Amino acid sequence: MTIPTLTLNNGVTLPALGFGVFQTPPDETVAAVRTALEVGYRHIDTAAAYGNEREVGRALRESGVPREEVFVETKVWISDYGYDATLHAFDKSAVKLGVDTIDLLILHQALPSRFDLTIDAYRALEQLLATGKVRAIGVSNFMTDHLDELLAATTVVPAVNQIEVHPYFRQPAVLAADAAHGILSQAWSPIGGITFYRDSGHPSALADPTIAAIAATHDRTPAQVMLRWHLQRGRSAIPKSVTPSRIAENFAVTDFELTDAELAAIDALDTGHRGGPEPATMTLEAWGRPVPEA
Ligand code: NDP
Repeated sequence: MTIPTLTLNNGVTLPALGFGVFQTPPDETVAAVRTALEVGYRHIDTAAAYGNEREVGRALRESGVPREEVFVETKVWISDYGYDATLHAFDKSAVKLGVDTIDLLILHQALPSRFDLTIDAYRALEQLLATGKVRAIGVSNFMTDHLDELLAATTVVPAVNQIEVHPYFRQPAVLAADAAHGILSQAWSPIGGITFYRDSGHPSALADPTIAAIAATHDRTPAQVMLRWHLQRGRSAIPKSVTPSRIAENFAVTDFELTDAELAAIDALDTGHRGGPEPATMTLEAWGRPVPEA
């Protein structure tokens, strides 16, 4: 089963489908990532703020899969923004992951009220790219105004913008801005995890009747239909699971094809209601917390 490859704006390639580990407890991370690597995933998405980079690194080493075959992506938390602090954040993540080079390093959030710090952090990413410590750099949860402000102040166009995208919240304006700038949109909560895992009372896209009907047509599961939708729309997607059967299920998405009408029907499910934190209100005061040394 071959997962499609995407080419970033600097020529680096990555498997479109990656494996997420947000909220995967450290003591479950090694098993989850090892299962993912056994199933065939070759792209792992973690973050300094998830507290499980060390376990991701352990799983990589224990798996026996050659380092160069796995695309490793991680994120700098806002508490480490600033030129020197972000350079040091690379060191912390690289040591925890047990790697010399990080394939994709991204800023986890914009800090709208401290955009100066956000820019300093991004300039550190540019420096890490120039010195070959990272193969690509990018951002996460950047809205269109954040992208405009960043692009005006820096040199390297982000390769990736990792944002909340699932059938109930699609962010078409951000997707369009990413595309216009040559930035790959990468979907977090691609099967709508944010809509249900916090007992938020939100409806789950996994139980959506339109998605269920499409899934029945193709003899697939709702999760597989959503992941197929991302891939056919040209996005990267990084589903998370700690459940071996679901890890395999989410990877088995290359041998069926949704029609244009089915893709459009899923697009039309957008409610405009964000599940995650509002990027405009992200502050150090509310969300800052130190990232431990390696
Ligand atoms: P997902 O959309 O990947 O959903 C994950 C949830 O769905 C888990 O509760 C999981 O349960 C369950 N699940 C997984 N597969 C299936 C399936 N086939 N059928 C039914 N249920 C399933 O949400 P996430 O929020 O975890 O997003 C994915 C990744 O995106 C994260 O792990 C992280 O890497 C990244 N992310 C980035 C953010 C950012 O700010 N940049 C924010 C949030 C996420 P279980 O594990 O128990 O199987």
